[in-house]
Amino acid sequence: MGDTPPAANVLTDRLLRSWLRCRRKAWLDRHADPSDRRWTAHRNLQLDDQQRCFVALLPQPPGHGEAACRSGAKGVVGLRLKGSGPADMALEAHPPLLLKVPGESRWGRFAYQPVLARQGRRLTREHQLPLALSAQLLESEQQAPVPELLVVGGGGRRLERDRVPFTAGLKRQLTDSLRKLAQDLQRQSPPALAADRRKCTLCCWRGVCGEEASAQGHLSEVSGIGAKRREMLIELGIEGLADLAAADPDQLASRMERFGDQHGEVARALVLQARAQRDNLMTRLTEGPALPELIEAPGVLLYDIESDPDARHDFLHGFVRVPRCSDGRWDLDQARYHPILVLEHHGEARCWQRLDRFLSQYRDWPILHYGETESLALRRMGQRQSVPDVQLKHLQERLIDVHARVRRSWRLPLSSYGLKSVASWQGFRWSLPGADGARALLWWRQWLGEGPRRRGSRYALRWILQYNRDDCLATWAVASWMAGQDATG
Ligand code: SF4
Repeated sequence: MGDTPPAANVLTDRLLRSWLRCRRKAWLDRHADPSDRRWTAHRNLQLDDQQRCFVALLPQPPGHGEAACRSGAKGVVGLRLKGSGPADMALEAHPPLLLKVPGESRWGRFAYQPVLARQGRRLTREHQLPLALSAQLLESEQQAPVPELLVVGGGGRRLERDRVPFTAGLKRQLTDSLRKLAQDLQRQSPPALAADRRKCTLCCWRGVCGEEASAQGHLSEVSGIGAKRREMLIELGIEGLADLAAADPDQLASRMERFGDQHGEVARALVLQARAQRDNLMTRLTEGPALPELIEAPGVLLYDIESDPDARHDFLHGFVRVPRCSDGRWDLDQARYHPILVLEHHGEARCWQRLDRFLSQYRDWPILHYGETESLALRRMGQRQSVPDVQLKHLQERLIDVHARVRRSWRLPLSSYGLKSVASWQGFRWSLPGADGARALLWWRQWLGEGPRRRGSRYALRWILQYNRDDCLATWAVASWMAGQDATG
């Protein structure tokens, strides 16, 4: 029951969750140098969501530890459950919350069920199995069955409850996963990198694994290769970036067609991309200018949105306004940042009015953004606000997705065409190192605090604005490079 960390050979609910996310992660959690871990905002966002969900579920504060169970508290935190599993495995779980339910346990005429808050919209094995481990240990601790597990979601805005029956099937899955986890932890070297490397962006081991991937020339390092394409390429004997770069594009295209015509079409592009990365080469793909709209433009607006995806709320529309001098140069000294901060209770109509008023002042200025989020958000908001089609069409014509233009016009020696990667390659540096969208969301939640009268730190708001402004300027770093290349033909 104490707060001492689990012994080295114990299988915990935390390790199990890591393993379900990525087998390698569990191994690194156990064996790698903890100083190689990188902080990620994801975990804090998860804890923040959990806190909101639990407050919505249980308005009064929970009790702590076994004493709270004995006294029949409605909710209990801080109980560390221990026991053993198949083949005498030592097991531990630290359920985030136990909820009092009808029943008969060693503590009295009531029992407990374990509760977990899920982030995201779907209930997955990553939620169910660690919770099942808590349930299994809780059954022996309270000497009463746990027929059902509870998963709550919705971030506390609207409480969603998923009741998961603790069936024989779920118990079998748990035993099976624990056995495999124990085997993986006994390996001398870590399991392979995750097949789907997108999950690495949220992982604390991304630094270690990123270095490993680039040292190996892992196929996932080639822009355009996800888990499925990597599998196909390996099946064709292409194991890494070097093999792909050395392949004959036409031959590979015809071999890839057996997985579907679309794969044949992309095969050539993948070989050329691998060569660009191997040889550090950039190539122009189109003849005309990549950004013709900038040739005569009197100025540009750089646009970036910060969002809370779970709340489906775009809380900041940030613009940097860059005018043009009479001699055609872009006047960065006169560049100004215009943040439009949107609180949920302001409502969308008011948000649209503010955006429309701002954008109308610069009618002929293109609006540059990186990725499709901004244009989709504006168009959908306009449609919901019944903006006339002709106005929406004009707005759509002004919106320029710089990411799409880069992809269409250039092949770059980069493993990603994301804003961070391309702008950094152009020498742009963010003024808050390590900041990203997840951290901005965490700052936003910290600033929101407990409502208008109890706002969190002002610094959090300042950092969000600074990060958002930097993203606008990073977009400009990419766009102005392309415009410069357009000018030199
Ligand atoms: S960074 Fe990726 S491959 Fe490495 S442990 Fe995390 S999820 Fe797995």
